[in-house]
Amino acid sequence: MKKLILCAALAGIIPALRAQVGDQLVGTTAAVENQPAADEALFRTHIKALSADAFGGRKPLSVHEEPVINYIAGTFKDLGLEPANGSSYFQEVPLLSVRTRFKNNEIVVNGSHGTVKLHNMEDAVVWSLRGEKSIKLANTSFVFAGFGINAPEYGWNDYDGIDVKGKIVIVLVNDPGYYDDALFRGKNMTYYGRWTYKFEEAGRQGAAGVLIIHDAGPASYDWSVVQNGRANDNLSLYSATGNKELVPIQGWVTGKAAETLFAAAGQSSETAIAAARQKGFKSFALSLKTTLEVLNSAKVANSHNVAAILPGTDLKDEYIIYSAHWDHLGIGTPIDGDSIYNGADDNASGVSALFLLANRFKKLAERPRRSILFLSVTAEESGLLGSEYYSLHPIVPLQKTVVNLNMDGYGNKGRTTSVTLGGAGDAETDRYVIEAAAAQGRIVMPAANQTSGGYFRSDHFNFAKVGVPVILAKGGRDYLDPAAEEAKRIAHPPVYSYHQPNDEYHDWWDLSGSLQDIYLFYGIGLRLSNDSSFPRWNEGIPYKAIREGK
Ligand SMILES: [Zn+2]
Repeated sequence: MKKLILCAALAGIIPALRAQVGDQLVGTTAAVENQPAADEALFRTHIKALSADAFGGRKPLSVHEEPVINYIAGTFKDLGLEPANGSSYFQEVPLLSVRTRFKNNEIVVNGSHGTVKLHNMEDAVVWSLRGEKSIKLANTSFVFAGFGINAPEYGWNDYDGIDVKGKIVIVLVNDPGYYDDALFRGKNMTYYGRWTYKFEEAGRQGAAGVLIIHDAGPASYDWSVVQNGRANDNLSLYSATGNKELVPIQGWVTGKAAETLFAAAGQSSETAIAAARQKGFKSFALSLKTTLEVLNSAKVANSHNVAAILPGTDLKDEYIIYSAHWDHLGIGTPIDGDSIYNGADDNASGVSALFLLANRFKKLAERPRRSILFLSVTAEESGLLGSEYYSLHPIVPLQKTVVNLNMDGYGNKGRTTSVTLGGAGDAETDRYVIEAAAAQGRIVMPAANQTSGGYFRSDHFNFAKVGVPVILAKGGRDYLDPAAEEAKRIAHPPVYSYHQPNDEYHDWWDLSGSLQDIYLFYGIGLRLSNDSSFPRWNEGIPYKAIREGK
């Protein structure tokens, strides 16, 4: 349903825009904004500095955090911005760092039809984000709760008529739309499909544990990714209650392990999973029990978001937020002798983009009417924690926050003739992107369906979750000068660098496309900062009710 609305809306707009700007797209840069050398120099200098080995890959809570956040705050200050959090450029973000292990390196589950032993890491990856040294579950029973989804707007409630309090729920990854285009948003994963949601909902239902059945297709990654992600300390936010509201035991089991668990309960996992994909499925108890204990070694420490503000004029109590995470993975497993995960593209480039935007806004002859908040958040790589903390403890009122424009991955890139729009059709913000792109001579294309839930994997999502409209837009793959792109590829053959030590800055990086994307965001922010409108979410989008208090 949603998809149809989206297609109709964009189908109407895009051909019209093409007709309007089509002439400018053929091999000319006429419509692309000038890129003053000074802008590029500023942008380049900061990417290079922030991704230098001296900052050790910018891991939160490491010895490198303080120099990094001081660098960012100092640059904001030099650019003429004011502290945004009272008299401080920093917002403390309390984090719990915890390592969990099984007491006996296995979990024994007794069923009516047999006993199953789940081996740590091999069959099950289990952790706890609560601070307690030991968590015990005694004689605990199990429920198969389908997708573990309670979604009134889709008429779907896997928790209907079943009590999971104090029990372990077993759930499926992704959402029913993955299997049936008529359900949810079809292949475009909703937040109900994300594993983080499964834990949150089970927590609201009072469950003692959650085990998600891993399946590489709908999960979009292999079991090794689940294992690697939890091999070391886990970071999470640390709430005032000491994370007591979280499900004590969280984790995944392999598809094979799930099969044996169902068999031990005298059930077929295949039949159960097939049934769970149908509308009207009823969750059911499994005749399984377990007694288990996990041990946690945990510590609590403060990381920091960095926030600076350019105050507006007559509408200074309304805000545009530009954000970019400063953290990366730090020092880790060496690859080709290099153990520093520099994170030049991810996300020294985004932070540097904040500086460039700040510089532009600051130099305007007339200050914008609305205030502009520049927010560099921590611990994105550990699960969007800095932005989540901000969304729960905003420095400026969320209801007065017009929009969030988040930047992640603004490194080496040539100019393009198109802009890819994420979450297209979700909000009235689309219009601002389309018009700002047109002013650059670029057309807007909706992002492809994301079965992997990419939309939920960057900081903007925490703003959407609390109702603030977000803008997700970046140059596509249609290069303005394909021959030049090809020449660059030959001179510097691309290597896989995502979350690798070789995500490093090079002087040969082409930043023209990065600047083009930053100017796009500048154009949108400039317009909204001198406007008095609040773009709204469209009908049928879950964040609308949150925004409008319905
Ligand atoms: Zn990133």
